Amino acid sequence: MNINTNYLKLKDGYLFARIAKAVGEHKEKNPDSEIIRLGIGDVTLPLSNTVTKAMQSAVSEMGNAETFKGYGDYEGYMFLRQAICGYYVGKGVTLQTDEIFVGDGAKSDIANMLDIFSPENTVLIPNPVYPVYVDTNIMSGRRIVYMNGNADNDFKPLPDKNIKADIIYLCSPNNPTGAVYTREELTLWVQYALENDAVILFDSAYEAFIQDKTLPTSIYQIERAKECAIEFCSLSKTAGFTGTRCGYTAVPKELFRSSESLNKLWLQRQSTKFNGVSYIVQRGAQAVFSQDGFDEVMKSVTYYMNNATIISDTLTKLGISYTGGRNAPYIWLRCPGDMQSWEFFDKLLAEANIVGTPGAGFGANGEGYFRLSAFGKREDVSEAMIRLKRLV
Ligand code: PLP
Repeated sequence: MNINTNYLKLKDGYLFARIAKAVGEHKEKNPDSEIIRLGIGDVTLPLSNTVTKAMQSAVSEMGNAETFKGYGDYEGYMFLRQAICGYYVGKGVTLQTDEIFVGDGAKSDIANMLDIFSPENTVLIPNPVYPVYVDTNIMSGRRIVYMNGNADNDFKPLPDKNIKADIIYLCSPNNPTGAVYTREELTLWVQYALENDAVILFDSAYEAFIQDKTLPTSIYQIERAKECAIEFCSLSKTAGFTGTRCGYTAVPKELFRSSESLNKLWLQRQSTKFNGVSYIVQRGAQAVFSQDGFDEVMKSVTYYMNNATIISDTLTKLGISYTGGRNAPYIWLRCPGDMQSWEFFDKLLAEANIVGTPGAGFGANGEGYFRLSAFGKREDVSEAMIRLKRLV
């Protein structure tokens, strides 16, 4: 009997577990401290009224013999896939309902998508980025090549003709840097993927936070992207579904590799290993795309983006350089005084009772940087900025 020894190659302790440990120890030593958490990117506003009502009514349906539902479609209920396709129409993108797969969030789909690709593939991953891309590929033993995101390229690495990759991860708006690729930049990636027979795994979990109308909110806004890209979306941050769990993934029918349809392979994967998202949650998700639901959800997005403005204005006043915060709910700042990420984390926690996320946790290029999340409550964000001003 052998275990998957790739798991032993994972860095000890997930970033947020290490943060939780540090915060726990601080709290033990300082029981009266009022800690403000701007670390983990979890939302704080509740589900919207329209969404909650839709879910309540779905609960009643499930308790009634006439309307009770058992197993649903593996790909998600048609009513939700139609609503998602309608949302894409608003972006100028036409997708068919059988190109949409409803899942329990972007994280699982991003990780599970690797099932349909050979472990021999080389993956290209930006650094810094959401750590799940790296860890899931380490678990499956794939060769990882990193591409450098840094201040020189505004944390938006572009294709390098000398690197041959099969799977490319792009995250736009980016977690943690808040950087968003332009149409021209994404066009370069699509061209690279087509030329190299590669597949782009495009994570657009934060697309709803893009304020600048000239920036793309879907990779399918780029010509021929359907021939080379899979897109992952999430209702977690957009609609407060972090605890409710729902996301969706688009796998276009134009997408073939080794003469096989990736849409067909993904359907096979899902129907074998996944039994769908609950009817109740899918009714709630459908309500997100209704007129009232969408207006309510967008109010929450605006609330978080106003938090982001409060944070970025404070940093500007303090002369601390940063990216993000304009089209993304994350502010990525350079640690003051050339401090290292964990050093600044410790100082902020010890002297201001603020929890942020050390940039080094997102890859080597994050060293010297720090991520603040705009998902907090307004009063907490404002208080944190008062404390930060005092500290710096
Ligand atoms: N992708 C990115 C870039 C994220 O930051 C997150 C969550 O923080 C996810 C995906 C996962 O989202 P979900 O809650 O839908 O699994």
